[in-house]
Amino acid sequence: MATLLISDLHLHPGAPAITEDFLRWLDERASDADALYILGDFFEAWIGDDLLDLGDADPTGTAPLARRVISALKALADAGTRLYLMHGNRDFLLGERFAREAGATLLPDPSLVTLGDERVLLMHGDSLCTRDEAYMAFRSQSRDPEWQAQILAMPIPERLELARQLREHSGEANTNKAEDIMDVTPEDVVQALHAHGVTTLIHGHTHRPDVHDLEVDGQAARRFVLGDWQPGVGWEIEAAPGQDLTLRRITLSE
Ligand code: MN
Repeated sequence: MATLLISDLHLHPGAPAITEDFLRWLDERASDADALYILGDFFEAWIGDDLLDLGDADPTGTAPLARRVISALKALADAGTRLYLMHGNRDFLLGERFAREAGATLLPDPSLVTLGDERVLLMHGDSLCTRDEAYMAFRSQSRDPEWQAQILAMPIPERLELARQLREHSGEANTNKAEDIMDVTPEDVVQALHAHGVTTLIHGHTHRPDVHDLEVDGQAARRFVLGDWQPGVGWEIEAAPGQDLTLRRITLSE
């Protein structure tokens, strides 16, 4: 049985084709998997799980989209696929309620897991982009539980306005093009693998899908980078016992 990993779908009401492609991929591809890991930036923006209560009254249109995604994930979970969600820099407010309704487990970033026959370090990837000092400062603030609780206590219209302001003041947040996203710092990749005692890292975030060979403590190591999904095209990693990890570009619709 295979395990699948994806990231950076950036689901958004403004890009309905990606949601349709994803729901079809779940049904046709992921339903055969024993586990599915979604490594962050699943949604382009997430201001709190209580958005789900707005339903069709959500002015951003995210709530109805998220409801469809939740019921598709729940169907998969009920049919026996284990689901894991990691936060990205866009959807770090995705909460326990979303996970529970979707039948998924929220994973900390980083997480060490066994895929196929090997121990693998999973991350979203933004924590490795340490040369972006302004973002790293925002990251430590935005992952602080007290700060999150304050934000979540704000009325939804205020949170929507705050999200809009954050997008305006962050160059990276305005675009999903790889050239506008800072790449990882190579030394921090080596340090992360060393610290966890493993030689394989899988992450997304940078929108630079690739497999990089490197060396950690004199041992050969690898960094797999998942790509972002675009209409018609996605990226997945497949892990299965007795088989090497495979990064694959997938055609989702013609
Ligand atoms: Mn990201």
